[in-house]
Amino acid sequence: MKKILFFFLSLICFETSAQSNDSLFMTPANRDILMQQFMSLPCGIKATDNVKTIVQKLEKYLISYQLDPNFEDDKFAKAANWQALKSVKMGGYGIGAVIYENKSRKILHAAHNAQMTKLRSDLHGEMTLLNEFEDNPKNKKYRTKYICKEGLTVFSSAEPCPMCFIRIATVGVDTKYCTAGPDDGMTQRVQCLPPYWRDLAMKHKTEKAKSSPVMQMIAHVLFYSYLLDGRHA
Ligand SMILES: [Zn+2]
Repeated sequence: MKKILFFFLSLICFETSAQSNDSLFMTPANRDILMQQFMSLPCGIKATDNVKTIVQKLEKYLISYQLDPNFEDDKFAKAANWQALKSVKMGGYGIGAVIYENKSRKILHAAHNAQMTKLRSDLHGEMTLLNEFEDNPKNKKYRTKYICKEGLTVFSSAEPCPMCFIRIATVGVDTKYCTAGPDDGMTQRVQCLPPYWRDLAMKHKTEKAKSSPVMQMIAHVLFYSYLLDGRHA
């Protein structure tokens, strides 16, 4: 009897902790909730800090951050978050991305969202990354006409939206992301696509990266950082 009771209690505890962990990564309902998440980071961010100070503290933290060997994708998460932070620093949206070679794990290019700086609706982080990567003649060896050769991955700080997801599928590379997008991400909704695009997207791997909890939280708060100053309004 005791064993059964213990089993059910454990189940309830697990469910509760899983839910509370998930809830950390939900879309923050307002600026105050987002600020709580910023303050949960080990960067010394305070409730009274303005965007500039928050960016400075995150920058300092990321520069000194030592990759966690328990998480094989931490290197890419750090690089993508660095790009996301650069975008926020320039008054843009906090999404960054890198493209890397699977075999060597070498980062070939890095970029960030440029909608605000270039006033272009299509320049999400992944789109900017792929535009720049494709436009650089040095990267010709990685491509066949407009499609990439096998063995590359686009790593985004946040789960790609429908537009970026289709672009990545068209380019023909794998996808990884640091933090899920419960309200806007496409990778977990691939079955909603028209058959042609669904089948194209499923030719390549798409997965949440193995990155440390702190890298995931930085990616998450940077994604929603537009709530800090209402720049999306
Ligand atoms: Zn996008």
